[in-house]
Amino acid sequence: MDVLTDKKLLNLITYAPATIVGAFTLLWLALSVTDIVLNSKQELIDFQNDYQQRQDTILTKQVEYIAQQVKFAREQTESQLQETIRDRIYEAHRIATRLYESNRNLPEERVTRIITDALRVMSFNEGRGYFFIYKINGLSVMHPLFPNVEGSSLWDYQDSRGNYIVQDMGAKVKVDGEGFYRWWFAKPEQQNEQFEKIGFGKYFAPYDWFIGTGEYVVDVEADIKKTVLEWIRNLRFGQFGYVLVLDADGTILSHVDSNLIGKNALELGTQANIDGAKQLLNADNEFVRYSASYKPEGVSESAKISYVMKEPSWGWSISAGVYAEEYNRALKERQSKLEEEQNDAVVQMIILSTITTLFVALCSLWLSRGIAQRFKRFQSRISTNFNQLEDTKNKLEHLARHDELTGLPNRSLLHEQISVGICNSRLNDRQLAVMFVDLDDFKKVNDLYGHSAGDQLLSQISKKFEAFLKPDEFVARFGGDEFIFSFPNLDSLVETESKVEQIKAVFAQPFIVGGRTLHASCSIGVSMFPTDGDDPEDLISKADIVLYKSKARHKGDVLFFDNTINQQVQHDFLVERELRRAIEHNELTIAYQPQLEAKTDKLYGVEALLRWHNPLLGHVSPLEFISLAEENGLIHRLGEFAIDRACEEIGRLFPDSHNDLRLSINISPTQLMDNGFVELLESTVSKHQLPSRRITLEITENVLINDLPKVTPIIGRLKSLGYTVSLDDFGTGYSSLSYLSALPLDELKIDQIFIDKMLSSEHSDSLVKAILAIAESSDMTVVAEGVETQAQKDVLIQYGCDVLQGYFIERPISIDQLAQKYSEKYLEFE
Ligand code: C2E
Ligand code: CA
Ligand code: CA
Repeated sequence: MDVLTDKKLLNLITYAPATIVGAFTLLWLALSVTDIVLNSKQELIDFQNDYQQRQDTILTKQVEYIAQQVKFAREQTESQLQETIRDRIYEAHRIATRLYESNRNLPEERVTRIITDALRVMSFNEGRGYFFIYKINGLSVMHPLFPNVEGSSLWDYQDSRGNYIVQDMGAKVKVDGEGFYRWWFAKPEQQNEQFEKIGFGKYFAPYDWFIGTGEYVVDVEADIKKTVLEWIRNLRFGQFGYVLVLDADGTILSHVDSNLIGKNALELGTQANIDGAKQLLNADNEFVRYSASYKPEGVSESAKISYVMKEPSWGWSISAGVYAEEYNRALKERQSKLEEEQNDAVVQMIILSTITTLFVALCSLWLSRGIAQRFKRFQSRISTNFNQLEDTKNKLEHLARHDELTGLPNRSLLHEQISVGICNSRLNDRQLAVMFVDLDDFKKVNDLYGHSAGDQLLSQISKKFEAFLKPDEFVARFGGDEFIFSFPNLDSLVETESKVEQIKAVFAQPFIVGGRTLHASCSIGVSMFPTDGDDPEDLISKADIVLYKSKARHKGDVLFFDNTINQQVQHDFLVERELRRAIEHNELTIAYQPQLEAKTDKLYGVEALLRWHNPLLGHVSPLEFISLAEENGLIHRLGEFAIDRACEEIGRLFPDSHNDLRLSINISPTQLMDNGFVELLESTVSKHQLPSRRITLEITENVLINDLPKVTPIIGRLKSLGYTVSLDDFGTGYSSLSYLSALPLDELKIDQIFIDKMLSSEHSDSLVKAILAIAESSDMTVVAEGVETQAQKDVLIQYGCDVLQGYFIERPISIDQLAQKYSEKYLEFE
């Protein structure tokens, strides 16, 4: 699967917004352009429709307007006619009245004459109109057209429809003073047709006349038609717009081309033109698409759309129209204009959107780069912090699981590693060895050279340990001077032993610490998987057990775990447990072993030896429990007990006033080195009223060698306090006779080993002699220990040994036995 790495994410943050903005803008642009194009298309269609509609409306309105004007004009005919003739009659009447009044004095006939002469010549309406005068009774007074009827009555005169014109007119005027009337006449030029005529008359009271006039309606109409057509002819609209008026028979009444007026449209031009004229004639209130015979200048095609309306009364076809060509041209113009506008809009849009896109994209690029950079910074800061945290965590983890001083893994890792080793070994059907290593006498290094030397030594040893380990092998510092190894996948005992040898080899060479050369050694306890256990805890504890045992047995030893040892250790544990409460339980006693003065065979002193009887363990040898007590610190309490009890018993049974029996007390090195030891000794001894000159303190040789600088002043103090200091087990340790002279010792106790071998080993024999010689030269008392035979006793006496001690003389005995046996005997000697 494709993983979204941080780098990809960064790139995404940096470029995605700009890309998206760009893409969206392009999309928007595309949509907008499409929209513009579609819109302008629609606009064009709309324009087309609109233009057409407008054009149609214009045409319709124009034609309707003209038709209305025509109708109005036509409707005006009668009223105009009436108005004209009334005005005329009023005029004539005024004239007649004025003439009458100015000639009142003259006779009627005379005045009549003056009036008729004046009115006879007056004409109007292009000469068509004239006045006539009748007496109400029908007598013709004046008639300019028919002067012959003047003087005769026209009472019975009828029009072509039989109306009594003069009779009716006179009656009406007589009653109303004036009035209109109509009659019908054939016209002189058109005898076969009757035409309506409208007249007006006014009563002229002085002579009982009525003055009247009349006019053919058709004549007035013709006048109006003429005026109307004149007006129409001058109408123009648009570039080529004019109004065409055809008479019902096709005669052209109005046209832009005045040459065509009067011609019949049905006879003009091509057949298509004639058909077009027919169409126009047949149409009413509708649009007609036809081929026009007339083409104005600038128009090449005759196709024309006109709106036609009929004037029903006059039978006119009134039409106005536009040439298709003109229409198309306008349309085209509009289209190209629209296209131009559209292109402009698109270009503007592109420019605008490009600028916007660039701006926005740049802005977002700039922004997102900023974000990305910040993100990067955060990331690096986070990763730095995280690394630091990880480091700290690792360090802490390392610290938690490693020893600070040596850098070796500590206990907590140990179990894990051993578990892993066990698993591997089990899989491979092999063994695993857990080796518990404890440095011998490490405490002394600390005490003698200081802790930093001890630390250095531990570090050096750790480095050497690590150096020989194979990858799956492992060593941990268990605590203090203890190390634990885990060796998995072992094949045989030989291989295991070779590992032991590797560990021991580390100690073969001395270590240089602070310029000093130090020798170190170790004791090793080994437990094996699967033989001894399959659990780290168990294996460690078993290795520990055997280590403990190995140390107890002999420092520098290696011991493999087995059940006997286990039992021993369990036993040791039991011993330790029991020992802790031995004093309270009153299980401890003191046995006294007498010492004889060799020369006199007299009782010289007694050595106090601790005895422990426990209900569970029975008698436990001091060899066993003393060393244990030395290890676990109980020795102080035991030692104190021994001094106290021995002084008390000896003081009680062999009081100072009666004898000077000496009392030898064993002092363990730890005890001796204890700070308050001398004070404790002093208070105990004085408590039991035993003088210090009767007390010998037995110390072992080892303590001298190891802690000479510290021990020397203590010995000096003890001596100054009056105690005798004896060197016990002499010859077993380093046997360096040389330092003897340097120490303020009073007594040497030759170890029983030499006494035992003295008679059989020349070495022992000469050693005994040498010790005696040195002692003599240093003025020291020599005590021979473990004298078991007469022969030994004899030789020792012969060599000049001072004091003899051993089974041959007496075994250690209880205080009661001692008192029983020796108080008398001693007293004997007294
Ligand atoms: P040690 O000081 O060398 O004591 C003499 C040991 O030799 C005693 O063993 C004694 O019973 C034994 N012994 C004496 N004569 C003979 C002999 O002829 N043949 C043989 N084979 N052994 C003989 P014990 O009482 O078992 O004491 C063992 C060690 O325990 C002592 O050795 C001494 O180092 C230590 N010890 C005993 N009591 C005390 C005590 O109160 N304080 C301290 N610090 N150590 C004590
Ligand atoms: Ca002793
Ligand atoms: Ca001894």
